[in-house]
Amino acid sequence: MIYADNAATTKMSAAAVKTLTELIGTTYGNPSSLYTFGQEAKEVLEQARADVAASIGADPKEIIFTSGGSEADNQALISAASIGARKNKKHIIPTKFEHHAILHTLNKLEKEGFEITLLDVHENGLVRPEEVENAIREDTALVTVMYANNEIGTIQPIREIGAICRKHGVIFHTDAVQAVGHIKVNVEEDNIDMLSASGHKFHGPKGTGFLYAKKGIALTNLIEGGAQERGKRAGTENVPGIAAMAVALKESVAALDDYKAKLTPVRDRIIKGLSEIPHSALNGDFEHRVPSNINFCFEGIEGESLLLLLDDKGIAASSGSACTSGSLDPSHVLLAIGRVHDVAHGSLRLSLGEDITDEDADYIVKSVKEVVEYLRGFSPVWRDLVAGKGTFIL
Ligand SMILES: *Cc1c(COP(=O)(O)O)cnc(C)c1O
Repeated sequence: MIYADNAATTKMSAAAVKTLTELIGTTYGNPSSLYTFGQEAKEVLEQARADVAASIGADPKEIIFTSGGSEADNQALISAASIGARKNKKHIIPTKFEHHAILHTLNKLEKEGFEITLLDVHENGLVRPEEVENAIREDTALVTVMYANNEIGTIQPIREIGAICRKHGVIFHTDAVQAVGHIKVNVEEDNIDMLSASGHKFHGPKGTGFLYAKKGIALTNLIEGGAQERGKRAGTENVPGIAAMAVALKESVAALDDYKAKLTPVRDRIIKGLSEIPHSALNGDFEHRVPSNINFCFEGIEGESLLLLLDDKGIAASSGSACTSGSLDPSHVLLAIGRVHDVAHGSLRLSLGEDITDEDADYIVKSVKEVVEYLRGFSPVWRDLVAGKGTFIL
């Protein structure tokens, strides 16, 4: 079994599992309680906050814990929108290929009277800083650009975009769920005002995450109640989960160089192998790409069938095609980089984990080649293309 869907979720690290299970049994006090039992939990919580903050170059006071990346994204956008609204700034600049946690929150804000300017993502899967600058207006409240895309793995010019936002006094948020723990992220150096991250994307537990908000940025609560998290996120903290997330993040950040050195050659081995398939194309820039991500389109096939047949061969992968969610819409990310519907349907995302080997890579390439050929064998679209009744796009 080869697990190649680490962008969907990762396996918890041994140290994270150990921390989680130990703390569940021992440190069950309520961190808001004043007796020793509670204060022990509080200490664990604050140590986790310090570790998380240090891993991205932030101050512990700038971190609040959330239930994951989606919640952090929602809270970041809603907070920046209400800061803007107070100054009569109701314009927001996202990109076309943001995660749905961003796009769906923006739909809601649009209904409340905010104006949204969706930035283009170019064929290489990159946003251009000068286009961010051109889109900024007097009434712009927020720019939100994801650090690394979850489908095609492209790494955005975050530092440059952040500098532009600073220059114009606009709040800059980044959904860094696919970046934190995978590539170096530093909120100071990268000029980031707000950042979202998720524990289960870097070997921490599901249902954990955090939001960084630079000192001076007032957060709006999504959850009202007690005064936890500086009064910005009510509810008794998931202490074991948060501590396990912090352990996983510390480990991942300490291993970033090894991670890159190990995964990049395996990634490129697979990219090279899959490129040999006729009428196929790599999605997203080759250079500006997280070490784990491979995303291809294969003309004349359907991603869904590809996944099921790869599963039979013991490979867990993903497709940009959203058929699984009951919709026939192809991935908005692939459409944003200019893939037409038919081509976007035949996509495959492989997101590698640290345990991948060259043998696994070769097995993946061999299996994908076989399955693509097999599926094309009875694809009417492919038959027409081969018969010259249509034109190949790739
Ligand atoms: C997974 C993911 C999210 C959502 O994170 P959850 O912790 O699952 O809520 C948000 N943005 C990106 C880019 C992601 O990959």
